Amino acid sequence: MAVPKRRTSKTVKRQRRTHDKLSVPGMTTCDNCGELKLAHRVCKSCGHYKGREVAGE
Ligand SMILES: [Zn+2]
Repeated sequence: MAVPKRRTSKTVKRQRRTHDKLSVPGMTTCDNCGELKLAHRVCKSCGHYKGREVAGE
């Protein structure tokens, strides 16, 4: 089995990890107000979903 010759340094490990989770999974920005919202859910700040208002103000 192949074994790494050198231990991966903290810096190298952290540099690699910077590419992980650039966006929060399951979250999108609202088309109406631009707020971060849960995907496939009505926006809780403006009540819009699929370009129209669903929830009452
Ligand atoms: Zn919104």
